[in-house]
Amino acid sequence: MHRISRDISSVCHRGKKREGTFMHMFWDCHLLKSSWSSIHSFTHSVLDLQFDVSSSLYLLNDTYNLQLDHKKCRILILITYFAKK
Ligand SMILES: [Zn+2]
Repeated sequence: MHRISRDISSVCHRGKKREGTFMHMFWDCHLLKSSWSSIHSFTHSVLDLQFDVSSSLYLLNDTYNLQLDHKKCRILILITYFAKK
């Protein structure tokens, strides 16, 4: 938003310390860590599958390395959709 209007601060509106880049606002911000951790725990329990938390999975739906069947892949895509909302 700062690139559109210089009146809008480029600093993260949550933590107000770091620049609000895409990765910071959706993944790296320290105030989001507990949310992503909870979402990852929930995903583990629903899919009954062990995998590392990653920004490419949750932000870009990169499921290539997970070897999921079609049903679990759809569930994971739904979880990531609602998590980003
Ligand atoms: Zn932040």
